[in-house]
Amino acid sequence: MDKPKRHRKKEDYRMRTHLIHGNFESKKWDYDHHVVPPVSHSTAYRLSTLGRGARGFVQFASADEALSGHIPIYIYDRLDEPTRAMLEENLAYAEGGEICVTFASGMAAISAAMGATLRQGQEVLAHEILYGCTYSLMTNWLPRFGMQSRFADFGKLEEVRGRITPETRVLYFETPINPTMELLDIAAVRGIADEVNKSRDEKERLLVIVDNTFATPYCQRPLEQGADLVVESLTKGLGGFGTDMGGAVIAPAEWYNHLMLFRKDFGGVLSPRSAWGILVYGVSTLAARMANMQKTALHVAEFLCKHPKVESVSYPGADCFKQKALARRQMLGTDGQFAPGSMMYFVLKGADSKQTRAEKLVDYLAEHAYSITLAVSLGQIKTLIEHPFTMTHSALPDEQKRAFGMHPEGVRLSIGLEDWHDIIRDLELALEKV
Ligand SMILES: *Cc1c(COP(=O)(O)O)cnc(C)c1O
Repeated sequence: MDKPKRHRKKEDYRMRTHLIHGNFESKKWDYDHHVVPPVSHSTAYRLSTLGRGARGFVQFASADEALSGHIPIYIYDRLDEPTRAMLEENLAYAEGGEICVTFASGMAAISAAMGATLRQGQEVLAHEILYGCTYSLMTNWLPRFGMQSRFADFGKLEEVRGRITPETRVLYFETPINPTMELLDIAAVRGIADEVNKSRDEKERLLVIVDNTFATPYCQRPLEQGADLVVESLTKGLGGFGTDMGGAVIAPAEWYNHLMLFRKDFGGVLSPRSAWGILVYGVSTLAARMANMQKTALHVAEFLCKHPKVESVSYPGADCFKQKALARRQMLGTDGQFAPGSMMYFVLKGADSKQTRAEKLVDYLAEHAYSITLAVSLGQIKTLIEHPFTMTHSALPDEQKRAFGMHPEGVRLSIGLEDWHDIIRDLELALEKV
């Protein structure tokens, strides 16, 4: 650490100057020995010498520098800063990727992944069911930059193959799919990309991008299954406590430069305060939270499966899950363990009234249950319930929702950390009422 060489003693400066400059260059500011990493808030950094400043600008966004193990030369928060960088190291490790770049939200991360990989004239081919804002990004905004979006049912590999054109650069999808929890086969899509890439230049090769928000790296590591890049919202299961927004792209080192430059110029940086919370609370408790939530989810799924008013339950960990074999091959955590996650979707048997049974159930729970909360979002320590047909997916026309496997009687449940007996009892009492 280069110590400043002052030409006047500190004591010779006046109080007003002291109060501003404090003792920040104290040797007591030591990042290596904290049990809990400190949160650092500085929009700009003291550069010591012009030479060091110039070096900082040259090194910015260089993957070689970032992976070299040298202490980075921080310049300005929007370029790079240490709290975020600590989180990025951890997330890259969790997803098994070379580098990670974080963003202000999941949507900022997804925009950056598109911006870094696509050029004018190129196309993204995406699964037809997507997180609503991702769909809007692809249909409303990318075309304004000259990038087209096409859609296919990624559950039908022939259809995907048939829609790939010479302009297609990115294959994009989420798995598990929101809200039905249907899975898409990452390795199979990788296979299609590999076939196409046999006749393409390395620079124009087809890339597979997977949104891993629902599963989190505890339950699924898309890079190991064949994805080129992973995007995810840190606002959900990774952040885990519902206090901060964030997003991340995890990728091979060759994408680091583009992602960092995109973030610098489009400006969607993750605030260090949010990065700190996600690092200290979210990432460090991910495994403990998910392991506990999965146990609860299995109990809840078993209870729902047996209930006479329930038509079907879609939970990747349940015995009755339609894609059980794929779940067991693909939803594998860091230690190779089967990890079906904390999200489920269930469909109630229709009632004879105007209002669906699902609406009545969700409404009843919202008013009467202590352990289940009506809210969008997911992956929090509190169990959240919602009715996709009238809430998160209401913008889609009814026929399309039905075509995508969404049912008016469908309910999405994000299991939290409450005692599982209580969640089941609240559901049981509510089901009696509908
Ligand atoms: C929430 C979500 C996003 C967007 O994340 P934000 O942090 O809200 O911007 C993207 N994809 C999926 C699957 C999500 O659930």
